Order: sequence, then structure tokens, then C-alpha cells
Amino acid sequence: MNEPTRPLPRANELDTQEFWAATKNKELRYQQCDGCNTVVFYPRRHCTGCTSGNLTWKLSKGFGTVYTFSVVRQSYHPFFRGKVPYAVAWIELEEGPRILSNVIDVDDPLVDVQISMKVELVWEEHEEINIPLFKPVD
Ligand SMILES: [Zn+2]
Repeated sequence: MNEPTRPLPRANELDTQEFWAATKNKELRYQQCDGCNTVVFYPRRHCTGCTSGNLTWKLSKGFGTVYTFSVVRQSYHPFFRGKVPYAVAWIELEEGPRILSNVIDVDDPLVDVQISMKVELVWEEHEEINIPLFKPVD
């Protein structure tokens, strides 16, 4: 029997396809407004600060802190059932965007994940895209 796999996002939607395409090269990209410098994330066509359509793609270095998190202890999905307990966290990247992800590589997320802890990007590899996850900075 095949191992259950993570449900993956559709990588061909107009607003997000460039973001997902960059993950193939293990690049975590976000947008910034050319007009008012507002950092825009998740990817969109217009600035959330001034509605300008002139957004530039930027590359995150992949370092950030846990803004907040929750620990999932029960799941009925075949993939996530095998992962519990696991941390779902808002990661605040150094460049400003907040991304919803998981904090992995911890023994016990109830003890080992804390608000403000420093984390770094790690990639979960898939065929068409890669998924950005985070682990504690050593
Ligand atoms: Zn703007």
C-alpha cells in the first residue's frame, strides 16, 4: 500500500503560480509594492496597501520567528493522522511576510515550539513543487 501523501495546492492558479513555480528551485518568494513598499503575501495582483498593480517578486532568505502557533493532536486525514502531534504556525519572515506552515524536526511540539523562537526554512520535496516548512535554528 502506498504511503499517504500531503494534499498539495493547485500550482496553476494565476495569482500564485509564480510562487509555486519558484518553489521548484527552492526559492521562497513574496511580493513588494513598487509604489508604497508594502510587503504583499500571499501572492496577489494588487497591493494591499495602495491597490497598485505594480508588484515586484522578492526572494526570502528563509529565516524568521514563530509569530504564533497551535499543536494539532488529532486528524482524520490519512497523511496528517501519521504526523500528530504537529505544530501549525504563522512564521514571520525577516523580510516581513507571515506564512502559515509547520514547525518540524522537534521532539515534542507541545514543549519545543514557542512564540518568538527562531526558525529557518526547509523544503519538503515533491515532483512538481516543494512545500516550505520550518525547523528551529540550531
Ligand atoms: Zn502599494
